[in-house]
Amino acid sequence: MSVALPPTVALDGSFARELPELAVAWQAEEAPDPRLLVLNAALAAELGLDPDWLRSPDGLRLLVGNLIPESATPVAQAYAGHQFGGYSPRLGDGRALLLGEVVDASGRLRDLHLKGSGRTPFARGGDGLAAVGPMLREYVVAEAMHALGIPTTRSLAVVATGRPVRRETVLPGAVLARVASSHLRVGSFQYARATGDIGLLRRLADHAIGRHHPDAAEAEQPYLALFEAVVATQASLVAKWMLVGFIHGVMNTDNMTISGETIDYGPCAFLEAFDPATVYSSIDHGGRYAYGNQPVVAEWNLARLAEALLPLLSDDQQQAVALAEESLGAFRHQYSAAWSAGMRAKLGLSHGLDETVTSPLVGELLTLLQQSSVDHTSFFRDLASAARGDAEPARGRFLDLAAFDAWSERWCALDPDPGAMDRVNPAYIPRNHLVEEALTAATEADLAPLERLLEAVTDPYRARPELGRYADPAPEHFGSYRTFCGT
Ligand code: AMP
Ligand code: MG
Repeated sequence: MSVALPPTVALDGSFARELPELAVAWQAEEAPDPRLLVLNAALAAELGLDPDWLRSPDGLRLLVGNLIPESATPVAQAYAGHQFGGYSPRLGDGRALLLGEVVDASGRLRDLHLKGSGRTPFARGGDGLAAVGPMLREYVVAEAMHALGIPTTRSLAVVATGRPVRRETVLPGAVLARVASSHLRVGSFQYARATGDIGLLRRLADHAIGRHHPDAAEAEQPYLALFEAVVATQASLVAKWMLVGFIHGVMNTDNMTISGETIDYGPCAFLEAFDPATVYSSIDHGGRYAYGNQPVVAEWNLARLAEALLPLLSDDQQQAVALAEESLGAFRHQYSAAWSAGMRAKLGLSHGLDETVTSPLVGELLTLLQQSSVDHTSFFRDLASAARGDAEPARGRFLDLAAFDAWSERWCALDPDPGAMDRVNPAYIPRNHLVEEALTAATEADLAPLERLLEAVTDPYRARPELGRYADPAPEHFGSYRTFCGT
């Protein structure tokens, strides 16, 4: 059914119009009994959508894709991708739809997208559906990332569909409505390139420039400038992940955006005990997407983007490769600079300090953290107390107290600023055991733990004594954690 939405809500279809080769017009499956689990009223308002209307029966039908505004043509987007290093020429939205684009309150174009809305022509063997748990996981983690100041797709709502989903057990189904500055992926470019249609590749690049990196249009070589902008934005993004201990878990090229937003929260998790080899995903047997590998993988993915863009970089392909290599060469430096600056900030140290002093200090700290399996998030938070004169909370986490004391003495001599530390080191992250607890309860229709968790993680830097358990690492009995793909 097609109806007009309440005033001012207009969904455009510029992606589908400009890139019809990458868009298959498609409809969501009918949800038999839509029930709202969580709505992001502030984000709705930002998009010009009335939260009260979204909670109404028609609003819920919009959020599961069963009520389509006149202006909109929902599409499944085509993309390719390297999954765990192996190339898949045809992935695409197997269970997702782009409803269209909305101009938000600040004039920015944002995608409104559904996940779990039924099979599409890209579904392959999948059922096109999603269970309540994984959609709520994406909702919570994306909103936590946003609150941490990390670019990400946003979560608008999760609506239970009333349709059961068969996994290892039968689970309640749900649709996630999410918002992104676009859903263009490295894999979108790989797909366009693989068609052999250079006109399509150019249109896609122009679309990406227009939406994300408009300055590139003014550059001498706009497509090289586009690539450089993606390299820079991904270097900055992955540095932020590393600083907060985020492990994406499935950094396939189809899960890496052109905008620089984190996308597709599947088997993601947050690091607790500091160890670069940490892997939570049950499908990541080789540890390809381990915490410490993420910068290298990002660079590898960007090399795949460069390959896709080669025909646009120069008529001479050898020249194109040389240009791409040079631009990709900036990644390591940009990443290191962003990470080092972030680490200095986490340690409360002033920007002016000499790198030859701070860099070994940071390196030695990471060794100590790893040796004692120290919880990453609470350590940095407690370290601010040490800067205030009470070293015990941080110190008590180490096995080798003398080594920590020696480190701490050198660090204190640099006059760290505890107030500044509290503004960059979160008290609350979506800890794995708390996320599991909230999802399990929500799957059994108790939304209270989810709401409390959201309260903590959407205001992560403001410590609140009553939220003490949200700041603590997982209890011993939680055991070693495994995450599963959201399929
Ligand atoms: P992901 O790694 O979760 O981002 O998904 C990889 C690919 O698998 C994408 O093309 C998805 O659309 C597709 N996919 C994942 N789960 C399902 C499902 N249940 N049904 C259909 N397609 C799916
Ligand atoms: Mg994906």
